[in-house]
Amino acid sequence: MAQASSDDLTAHIAQVHQRLLEAYGKPARRGCSDPVGSLVQTILSQNTSDVNTARAYASLRAAFPDWRAVMTAPTEAVADAIRSGGLANQKAPRIQAVLRAIYETRGAFDLNWLADLPVEEARRWLSSLPGVGNKTASIVLLFCFDMPAFPVDTHVHRVTRRLGLAPANASPDQVMRIIEAHAPPDWFYPLHLNLIRHGRAVCKAQKPRCNACILADLCAFAGNLSRPQRVQ
Ligand code: SF4
Repeated sequence: MAQASSDDLTAHIAQVHQRLLEAYGKPARRGCSDPVGSLVQTILSQNTSDVNTARAYASLRAAFPDWRAVMTAPTEAVADAIRSGGLANQKAPRIQAVLRAIYETRGAFDLNWLADLPVEEARRWLSSLPGVGNKTASIVLLFCFDMPAFPVDTHVHRVTRRLGLAPANASPDQVMRIIEAHAPPDWFYPLHLNLIRHGRAVCKAQKPRCNACILADLCAFAGNLSRPQRVQ
């Protein structure tokens, strides 16, 4: 029975994945020439929009010549540089602590050594850094090193549970584990990005557009339109 249930879930994920590919296409891989920069950018993206993240990151890179200068600068100066991204007083000390941890581990501002570790070990190390959870760690591992990690942001968390790919009360980390256990790794990148795209455009937090949704016949939630806000 357990095996059949697991197979059913894999088949359900496959249907969703295929439908999203047909609707949105296969997302092109974005290059990641600087994993440390990608980690900093992901910290900056917490609780803000992509536009504000890009603005804050550009401002940070313009204000300091390199990562050492960011690490050793007065925290206030780092906060000033990333002010446009929001929560600057929280993010600035986090970024500096993360840079310190990276430098103390390897004597360089380098994360490429993570690619030689098993994914769980690499994720555990990144998640031990201040302000870095499994989502941020998985983004760096998937986007920069093509490692089999499935990041679960707010959109992926909401849409997967509405679709019934995970229990309604599953945490982001539980959704991550479920998808990683039931989908092949080469789906992780396109599935992550296409679920975000679908969550932003159709399966919105407050008012999901179920009547226009290409996944409606695959969705546990679509038949319950009177309570669309229950899984957010
Ligand atoms: S049918 Fe509704 S709840 Fe289900 S994925 Fe589509 S928009 Fe979201």
